[in-house]
Amino acid sequence: MSLITKLTCVECGEIVAVGDAFTCPRCGPNAGILDVQYDLDRAADTLTRKSLARRTRSHWRYRELLPLDDEFRPTDGTVGWTPLIDAPRLAKALDIARLRLKDDGRNPSGSFKDRASSVGVAHARQLGFTQIACASTGNAAGSLAHCAAAAGLQANIFVSEIIPEGKLAQLLAYGARVFKVRGTYADAYELCTRACEHFGWYNRNCAINPYLVEGKKTGGLEIAEQCADDPPDWVACSVGDGCSIAGVHKGLMQMKAVGIIVWQTRLLGVQAADVAPIAHAFETGALEAGYITKRASERAADFSPRGAARAEARDSSNRDTYADSINVPVPRNWRKAVNAVKKSEGTFVTVTDEQIKQAVRDTGRLTGVFAEPAAAAAVAGIAEARRQGRFDSQASVVALITGTGMKDISGALQAVGQPHEIPPDLDHVVRIVESQPESTPSGQD
Ligand SMILES: *Cc1c(COP(=O)(O)O)cnc(C)c1O
Repeated sequence: MSLITKLTCVECGEIVAVGDAFTCPRCGPNAGILDVQYDLDRAADTLTRKSLARRTRSHWRYRELLPLDDEFRPTDGTVGWTPLIDAPRLAKALDIARLRLKDDGRNPSGSFKDRASSVGVAHARQLGFTQIACASTGNAAGSLAHCAAAAGLQANIFVSEIIPEGKLAQLLAYGARVFKVRGTYADAYELCTRACEHFGWYNRNCAINPYLVEGKKTGGLEIAEQCADDPPDWVACSVGDGCSIAGVHKGLMQMKAVGIIVWQTRLLGVQAADVAPIAHAFETGALEAGYITKRASERAADFSPRGAARAEARDSSNRDTYADSINVPVPRNWRKAVNAVKKSEGTFVTVTDEQIKQAVRDTGRLTGVFAEPAAAAAVAGIAEARRQGRFDSQASVVALITGTGMKDISGALQAVGQPHEIPPDLDHVVRIVESQPESTPSGQD
């Protein structure tokens, strides 16, 4: 048996029994996000530093805090327990005392989403489902397709048209049934929800499925364990729907509750400047569910017709930021994200595409970690927070690198410049090396 005691609605506090619903019956599926609660006293009996030292080097090591019965929880696996990498040269470039990168691009499908998908697939099996579905900007889909293929389930995936080619190839390679929806991510999301109702598929969408955030939580559990005796002042994380940062916060809090750590750290949520509804809600206090869940154009219409026209153009252009994985104009899990950042006494910043590109370059060049744009956004956020004086030069920060750059090569190429094209002739090599002895390739500086 799992140690789950109940589910609570983040909106109204309603208590829902285990197994009854994915969303709050009172608040409805758009607002009534549920949060899984555990018997933390019992978890603390067996989840100790000593017991952890002997367990699997995957996220399944935190069995007491996962929403699965024993027989449905793998004892070993390939997801999680990703390295925490010291990045002194990048820290120096960002003008902070210390930086560690939690490199979740090393998960089997290349992103942080594997934490959620693996728990989702195990949970679906526990409930007896054979088909599972999700809507995704790319990584959730890739990870679901991977985890479903590994466990022998059929994945049904709804993607929007802006999905990068590498991510699409990955889905098809894992044998998923892929629906490329001619519309926005929001359209793909709605369609997936309806298909799940129609066919009775398990819905992996993090925003409404409370068990998925439990998988994302393992990122926070690991940061807590890996930094147990050397805590950071801040953890930086990019934000799209809001589940990742909420999960990280929950993981950190639970590790404190069970006594593995005694500290708390602040969260820095990072959004793209032109797609920042959660950062905006955090700052303005405009927290009504209706405000956030409206389409961008409707929201803008509340302020001015011109804004509405602009937002309408954006809705249809389908692309507000270069960082596709956090291009989420209608976030579903904003309240969990805002609550998490508030409780941590943290803050939000927004970053431009130019800042994100710079972060892709600097992270690769100064640490050897190839981050996708949405992952590098966390690093860009640190630069921005430092620039704004949100933290000082003594800060010690962990940046969550949520995905590898390997899946979106054309996106990466927009940031990293071009090679030196030359004939097969040493003179050309000599000329270039002598003209820029310490330089990185052209197109950068
Ligand atoms: C999904 C994703 C995020 C954001 O996570 P949310 O739960 O949507 O806030 C950030 N980076 C990458 C690479 C992602 O795939």
